[in-house]
Amino acid sequence: SYRKGGYHAVRIGDQFAAGRYIAQRKLGWGHFSTVWLAYDTTTSAYVALKIQKSASQFVDAALHEIEILSSIADCASSSNASSNVKFVIQLIDHFKHTGPNGQHLCMVLEFLGDSLLRLIKFSRYKGLPLDRVREICKCILIGLDYLHREHGIIHTDLKPENVLLVSTIDPAKDPVRSETAPILERPEGNINGGVTSLIEKRLKRRARRAVAKISGRKDSMVETGEAPKPDRNIDGVDVRCKIVDFGNACFADKPIAQEIQTRQYRAPEVILEAGYSFSVDMWSFACIAFELATGDMLFTPKVGQGFSEDEDHLALMMELLGKIPRKIATAGAKSKDFFDRHGDLKRIRRLKFWPLNKLLIDRYKFPENDAHEFSEFLLPLLDFAPEKRPTAQQCLQHPWLNCKDSTPT
Ligand code: ADP
Ligand code: MG
Repeated sequence: SYRKGGYHAVRIGDQFAAGRYIAQRKLGWGHFSTVWLAYDTTTSAYVALKIQKSASQFVDAALHEIEILSSIADCASSSNASSNVKFVIQLIDHFKHTGPNGQHLCMVLEFLGDSLLRLIKFSRYKGLPLDRVREICKCILIGLDYLHREHGIIHTDLKPENVLLVSTIDPAKDPVRSETAPILERPEGNINGGVTSLIEKRLKRRARRAVAKISGRKDSMVETGEAPKPDRNIDGVDVRCKIVDFGNACFADKPIAQEIQTRQYRAPEVILEAGYSFSVDMWSFACIAFELATGDMLFTPKVGQGFSEDEDHLALMMELLGKIPRKIATAGAKSKDFFDRHGDLKRIRRLKFWPLNKLLIDRYKFPENDAHEFSEFLLPLLDFAPEKRPTAQQCLQHPWLNCKDSTPT
């Protein structure tokens, strides 16, 4: 993908925006971009620099993301800004960068820590203690309520990868200057040369050590492929996180795509093509909450003999939540592909019902009380009728979010 129209190759020490930002270390990548830890020489702070691929469809996607993030940032900087903006990633700056592969749109974002997916991995896919789950749920809900009510924005791609923890250590204020001193110059000479690559390696090591301080981890798993180690944030009392990746977000009054959301977090009305609104984010939120608490995805549909992934997905939903009411099942543009006129699946006839409460007790060994309370929290969010799902604002009032963990682990 490092060719014309693709990613921009970055070396540690590379400068952006006329020298304002200096690349320190790769933080991650997606299908559209690579994301770098960069040092902002103007504010003496670390930022995340998202460098988009250069082909026109990626430029368009970045322009869209910048539009959404700018509308949030504009609001955030106004005098009567709600403090709930803190639960959503902030765009600091954006600019164009020309390189050998073309012109790349770049977004400067506040620097954040690990994603919830990494947090789930650190639990060895066993799930987090319920009081942690509650704290994370509160953060996501405040962020969603803010996006939905104050901006009219539907995220449409809520999943554990797209919620990032806030680093508790501020790299700019770290007292050990020698370790955290930013790398300000790019290594000179031919990158493939023996000596230069040694320098490059040393710089990388130094950058990693600096970042280890920042993130509170020994080393970067992405770079070294080491087994995951628990992040310090897990033990912090103030787990705080933010919603990121607005590449697919839309204003509710101007929906763009018909097929939205990552498969496992997709709401039934999207599969049926029955129209959608803010409540699709609430469905995904419930899937995330379940995954945080158990370490497993709530729905993992697969293609089978004689049925599609969509049909398996609908069957899994019904096995957990009961039959989709006929009216809803038959109301979508694609309903006829899956359901007969009675509202029964055409190609999957026998369903094995396994209600959420029982699943939590039988498979995940939840104490009965915890299972009962957690299901009462999740089930309304997984209503097949989108308009019956609680809003983020209503969900924040739910007693489960404020109950005490009965089984401390
Ligand atoms: P894409 O649109 O290409 O999927 P994302 O916005 O999802 O790009 O970013 C790709 C990855 O980069 C994320 O999964 C995450 O690991 C990392 N990342 C993105 N934004 C930040 C940030 N603000 N701070 C730290 N890491 C980030
Ligand atoms: Mg992404």
